[in-house]
Amino acid sequence: MKQDIQDRILKRHAQCNYTCQYPGCEKPSTEIAHVISKGKYGRMRIKNYCFSKGLKLTSSDIDRIMHHDLNTYPTCKQHNDYMNLHISQDAKVESLIDEILDDIDKNVKSWK
Ligand SMILES: [Zn+2]
Repeated sequence: MKQDIQDRILKRHAQCNYTCQYPGCEKPSTEIAHVISKGKYGRMRIKNYCFSKGLKLTSSDIDRIMHHDLNTYPTCKQHNDYMNLHISQDAKVESLIDEILDDIDKNVKSWK
């Protein structure tokens, strides 16, 4: 895993007080859940949606979206899957990508 992504994940755990973000769960966070799944499908989904908006993303642009705070939630082992958006929730996936793009626009330096 790239160092900047690893740093970002550690920062995300710290921001959330190393606690699972599933509502009502207070176990220590041991994993990072990705709302849009970090697998090939999720990456393709981000790429295709952005392409439809006229944005051609590089692999590292996709990483920025994939590992953005709005797409990552620290969880315990039990609750990782509960954070994922299902493939069928297209409208939610697209509005989350829009929200992340807006945030990246406003805080270009926050990634570094
Ligand atoms: Zn939990």
